[in-house]
Amino acid sequence: MTQELFRENAYLDQTTARVTACDERGIQLDRTVFYPRGGGQAGDAGALVRRAGAAAIAIADTVKGEGGAILHLPAPGQDLSALAPGEELVAKIDWDRRHRHMRFHTATHLLCAIVPYQTNGCSITSGYARLDFDMVEPLDREHLERELARLVDEAHATRTIWVTDEEMDAKPELVRTMSVKPPRGVGRVRLLEIDGVDLQACGGTHVGNTREIGRLRVAKIEKKSARTRRVVLEFAS
Ligand SMILES: [Zn+2]
Repeated sequence: MTQELFRENAYLDQTTARVTACDERGIQLDRTVFYPRGGGQAGDAGALVRRAGAAAIAIADTVKGEGGAILHLPAPGQDLSALAPGEELVAKIDWDRRHRHMRFHTATHLLCAIVPYQTNGCSITSGYARLDFDMVEPLDREHLERELARLVDEAHATRTIWVTDEEMDAKPELVRTMSVKPPRGVGRVRLLEIDGVDLQACGGTHVGNTREIGRLRVAKIEKKSARTRRVVLEFAS
């Protein structure tokens, strides 16, 4: 198992780590700040910085492997022959890219609060965020942009909460206020609360305050199918 430092602190951009495996599937570390592709959010890119003059290894993407492993995928064309388990290095993400993921990801939670329908698809990259809603009603671009701007300007704090199934059962009002119902039977669930705005189960990375998202524009509203409305967000500047 890789210790997932990004789950507790999304703002960590680097950590020392030890290589635990290195093969054709990718590079595994004992702990990492690299978020693996999942929940709609793109995987992190960055570098593994080695000691003693060895060239840094460029990481193009990060994915989940079997049994909770996190696989750092090297960009092609690099010589990794000297890399072996036990080596200590510094794992460093491309922070500008990740911070855009965090801003967009938090923005999708705001959108969930504005549009009161279940979602059935989500994609978060450094260039855009895309969210699919299970609904037939039309959506109004100006309304969405105005509400997003309001929630950003109101500077709501965000908070990660871990709860067990028992705690959920003891607090039905918690589940009732959630825009997305959490999975059950997995022991504990990670929730993201945006103070006074939204609460939902989510394993992704988010900014600490909605103000940090900045100005958004609705790039596209699309009727994806008879029962799906797709919204694409971009940064306004
Ligand atoms: Zn989230």
